[in-house]
Amino acid sequence: MRRTIPLFLCCLALACAALSVSPRTSVEADALQSGGKLQWYKGNMHTHSHWSDGDDYLEMIGAWYRDHDYQFLVFTDHNILANKERWVVVEKTKGGKKAYDKLKAAYPEWIEERTNDDGALEVRLRRFDEVSERLNQPGKFLLIQGEEISDSFHRHPIHLNASNVKELVAPRHGTSIAETIQNNVDAVMNQRERTGQPMIIHLNHPNFGYAVTAEDLMRIQGEKFFEVYNGHPGVHNSGDETHASTERIWDIVLAQRLGRLDLPVMYGLATDDGHNYHNIPSRASEPGRGWVMVLAQELTAAALIESLENGHFYSSSGVVLESVRSDGKSLTVKAQSRGDETFTFEFLGTRKSTPLDGEPILDKDGQPLATTHRYSDKVGEVLKTSSGESATYEFDGDELYVRCRVTSSQKHPNPSEIGEHERAWTQPVIPE
Ligand SMILES: [Zn+2]
Ligand SMILES: [Zn+2]
Repeated sequence: MRRTIPLFLCCLALACAALSVSPRTSVEADALQSGGKLQWYKGNMHTHSHWSDGDDYLEMIGAWYRDHDYQFLVFTDHNILANKERWVVVEKTKGGKKAYDKLKAAYPEWIEERTNDDGALEVRLRRFDEVSERLNQPGKFLLIQGEEISDSFHRHPIHLNASNVKELVAPRHGTSIAETIQNNVDAVMNQRERTGQPMIIHLNHPNFGYAVTAEDLMRIQGEKFFEVYNGHPGVHNSGDETHASTERIWDIVLAQRLGRLDLPVMYGLATDDGHNYHNIPSRASEPGRGWVMVLAQELTAAALIESLENGHFYSSSGVVLESVRSDGKSLTVKAQSRGDETFTFEFLGTRKSTPLDGEPILDKDGQPLATTHRYSDKVGEVLKTSSGESATYEFDGDELYVRCRVTSSQKHPNPSEIGEHERAWTQPVIPE
């Protein structure tokens, strides 16, 4: 009984943070749908360039996204901001002569080059401020400065993206995987508080190197987002026999945070993690695989971040949603068919009555593996499946949360995993 009041207060706070009630924004009561000043903005929040290990120049990458109907893009190179003078030897860049020739053809008057003492051709990497001044168009296209804070613990890669940062965040390290994540989250939140600039941090590709488990992620304070879909072919979104998929990790994290840990909901992002821009499609990490659709009042970093933090977005690897509605008693999702595309709607959730204890997965010698624990199949169970262009799930009040995954009949044209269908993921809704 002692937990009744705190839990009740917590549920109120969670409901305010969730889709159904959001007094701080202009999204009308319960609907994610464009209209009036509200528009859907398509964006990618994970992008590499010649500033780290991508194979193209910022301006060429920005133009690719602009020309493929994106409205915003966050540059997130590893542990660096594109804010200083930097010259590179053309032949030594990841994109080599090919990328340089394309840059020169596209921007003949803008390129700055020189020959170094060894006779090698060098080009100056344009800074973020120069590129955004050149490519940004008010209301149509926005570049946002970001960073992939690339940390590690005992050789496990721990990467987090900071979007709209003002200053470089050096990896903070820690004495465990969870502490490493927490220290980096805290560093970005501290910068936000100190500078007054809205910025967010999200955990990238938990299954890259199978570094981050649901148990690591579930307790992180101030962590509101993680990548449920990352388009890089090496990040194991689907997991394997002994490793949970990123969707399974999401459900375990949600069930634990909402049912046991008194922590807020965590939202799922889809991103590209693009590195390779010259041979599309291929089996590399290319642009165009995963993105977010954010419902916001205007195309500014502040407005986008406010909407993201309020859960006013969905994530997609191809499926277009027309609306997501919830009044706290039901969740209705409407998709937009392109041609003869059909959809499967799966409403996933965890009930309050579901046992939440997990147990380690053991290797053949009976030793626990450093992987996400095994939980009841009822964690993240499919509560309802239907097909058509829209679907509704009526809450019965016993759910901790419900989310919807929409799968298209169309296969992804350039998948990160073989056989992948195009999908969309709504954010979790907490019943009233
Ligand atoms: Zn990474
Ligand atoms: Zn990355």
